[in-house]
Amino acid sequence: MSAMATEVAEKTSEEGPGTGDKVANRFDLEKETELRFEVESGEPEEGKKPEEVVLELLTGMAEIFGSELNRNKKYRFGPGSKIAVFTWHGCSVVLEGKPEAAYRSGETPMRLYLNTHAALEQMRKQAERDNERGPRVMVVGPTDVGKSTLCRLLLNYAVRVGRRPTLVELDVGQSGVSVPGTVSALCIERPADAEEGFSVQAPLVYHFGSTTPGTNIKLYNKLTSCLADVFSQRCETNRKASVGGCIINTCGWVKGSGYQALVHCASAFEVDVVLVLDHERLYNELKRDLPHFVRVVLLPKSGGVMERSKECRRVSRDEKIREYFYGFRGSSFYPHIFDVRFSDVRIYKIGAPSIPDSCLPLGMSQDDTQLKLVPVTPGRDLTYHVLSVSCAEDGEEGARRGIVESPVCGFIVVTQVDTQAQVMKVLSPARRPLPRHTLLIMDIRFMT
Ligand code: ATP
Ligand code: MN
Repeated sequence: MSAMATEVAEKTSEEGPGTGDKVANRFDLEKETELRFEVESGEPEEGKKPEEVVLELLTGMAEIFGSELNRNKKYRFGPGSKIAVFTWHGCSVVLEGKPEAAYRSGETPMRLYLNTHAALEQMRKQAERDNERGPRVMVVGPTDVGKSTLCRLLLNYAVRVGRRPTLVELDVGQSGVSVPGTVSALCIERPADAEEGFSVQAPLVYHFGSTTPGTNIKLYNKLTSCLADVFSQRCETNRKASVGGCIINTCGWVKGSGYQALVHCASAFEVDVVLVLDHERLYNELKRDLPHFVRVVLLPKSGGVMERSKECRRVSRDEKIREYFYGFRGSSFYPHIFDVRFSDVRIYKIGAPSIPDSCLPLGMSQDDTQLKLVPVTPGRDLTYHVLSVSCAEDGEEGARRGIVESPVCGFIVVTQVDTQAQVMKVLSPARRPLPRHTLLIMDIRFMT
């Protein structure tokens, strides 16, 4: 597919004033084509600002993953960005800076994706007419096929025609909503910002604690059910949310327990549509295993989707945590650091290490161990761990039972532990005191 793409670097005859040593390239795009570019990742040299690529729309109309661009506005993309500027009717854009690769392609699955949106919109119209609920859609596929991008596109198109769809984020490795190690739901009220993505006000977030569902599949499925319950309750009282339906983004783990988790999700959310990206076997398996009324659709991936290395994923996870504390581009929030006394908090890990069935106490099953709250004794090894602050009421036993199913109200990072003084220093988005005192530890660490 990408063989069709043409490598271009049309230099503008005159570089505009003030561009300095930056290179500016103008690209004219015909209708239904896109300009793909990447911004080099990696650490900037000492004392230098990270390389950025600046995009500007000069004429016509264009969009980035379904977010319309404004003319004569400069869009800045930082290291690691992989972008496609698509136009339905033709446009010209200019790129400033040094994109790693920039090429035009006329081979995109955008028409199929638009048709998919149109079909979902039909379902919403019908739901409105018949006083039913709108489409619940699950997007699945292996890693690096554009799942998250397709979700963003469909949500953008839906909100642009006045809908209020919900994004359900089940990718615990690369969450588009909250920090890694969480699952969440977010009501979409306006299109994503072309640079920053969806605005995340008041998401519903649950603590999972690690970056792959496999570390605790029971917990993963349990949280999927929690999200489904809350979403369904909301749909009962909020007609717009119900008609808007939801778009569920999933992880790229599609075998074994990963596959079972997809089937579980489909049933918990009672999904109506499953979009399978670029995986025929998965498509056939889901058609076989899901109830007959679920529409399973196979869609091609875009040739523009780029593979991301382990390292690249680690960097973007880190970035997501940094963004939580410091804001987009690290400049809008000012987090606080303060002491927390061990005696003022209770720290738990969810899930005891699994032990052979024969060793389990009478009447206990493996499920119980995976969902069990294990108290953590604070020590030096807590340093750098991300902790979720549970919304669960601070009370004793009664509250303890609801902790796994309680959403979280925020995150802190342990920056130092003093076992002598029995205190730890934490990085927190808000000033002291902590809003709640039940903390859940993640496998994930963050160095400030
Ligand atoms: P994962 O398995 O990590 O969840 P995914 O299937 O969700 O991956 P995306 O995150 O949607 O894949 O896409 C991978 C990368 O490719 C992203 O950085 C995205 O911005 C980029 N990308 C998607 N579509 C295009 C395109 N048409 N042109 C250029 N880049 C693209
Ligand atoms: Mn993804």
